[in-house]
Amino acid sequence: MQSIDLFSPSLSKPFKAVITMHQKPDGDAMGSALGLYHFLKALGHEATVISPTNWASFLNWMPGVDKVVDFEQQPHASSDLVNAAEVIFCLDFNVLHRTKHMEQVLTKADCTKVLIDHHQQPQKEAFNYGASDTSKSSTCEMVYDFIMASGYADMLNVDMAECLYTGLMTDTGSFRFPATKASVHRMAAHLKDLGLNHTKVHDYIYDSFLENRLRFIGHALLNRMEVLYEYNTSLMYITKADLQKFDIKTGDTEGLVNYLLTIQGIKLGAIVIDRDEERKWSFRSKGDFDVNTFAREHFEGGGHKNAAGGRSSDNLETTVKRFKEIIKNYHNQLQ
Ligand code: 5GP
Ligand code: MN
Repeated sequence: MQSIDLFSPSLSKPFKAVITMHQKPDGDAMGSALGLYHFLKALGHEATVISPTNWASFLNWMPGVDKVVDFEQQPHASSDLVNAAEVIFCLDFNVLHRTKHMEQVLTKADCTKVLIDHHQQPQKEAFNYGASDTSKSSTCEMVYDFIMASGYADMLNVDMAECLYTGLMTDTGSFRFPATKASVHRMAAHLKDLGLNHTKVHDYIYDSFLENRLRFIGHALLNRMEVLYEYNTSLMYITKADLQKFDIKTGDTEGLVNYLLTIQGIKLGAIVIDRDEERKWSFRSKGDFDVNTFAREHFEGGGHKNAAGGRSSDNLETTVKRFKEIIKNYHNQLQ
């Protein structure tokens, strides 16, 4: 993988591009993809955003989201687009299997692949050019850096600003995680200068749920949370019946894991959700406990030091039991 700076000169000639991101895209994945989409369109390139799966409805206000193709809904049309692309941008993930059923067509595609991502341990051989930086707050910040260094910084507009602000805000936990460097605030200030309405973005993302989601959170906190004080760990498990009873949709469970870390002294928060095809884990930590390594070693996952995810093919009860056994080996690291 060569530096993305060596790719930038190619922006001067029109090309056909596909932009994709990890499955179940969050604010950073969708925001970075759409931010880049508007930039490429403004430069006269043909660009399509393809999401490997559906996404949370709280992202549906974003400029350009109505043009995003869902690979699971339109596998043939999506594959044709990938095969016709001259450049594929891969955003907010760094191993192709994070695109689920899209992995195969992406692997086979014989064109220029460009990575922009801030997760650990990139699959570098899969990309021709890229920027991979774990110190960055978000992929949105990296897309902004790419635009600023491209020679076309004057193309930045308010649509791009809204998209890029979304991931900047969500991935920094609204500007509170340690990766919120001065550069993050400088970027936010620049986006404000471009006409960004940050309150609007915040309201769309955080204040546009239905009543059922709040009832569900109440239920989960009351009935599905265990605090393992000995290990400074808080654990939550959500059953299939819970998801059905409260009519939980993609995105409704996002952020739930963060409640676990609000208990005094808790260093590790873990939530497992019984999805159709797998038990999906989310891990969050405070301080030195490295959930990226933890997720990689025990739950086929990965991510960042303080925020990672994973999966298990065991049933819910077994995977929870296994977690409780595993955590015993981390007693010292969690003190
Ligand atoms: P979340 O818990 O919000 O789904 O994910 C936390 C972080 O870990 C995100 O940056 C996400 O991209 C990453 N992540 C989540 N699940 C997985 C996984 O199964 N594998 C890898 N490599 N990363 C994941
Ligand atoms: Mn991200």
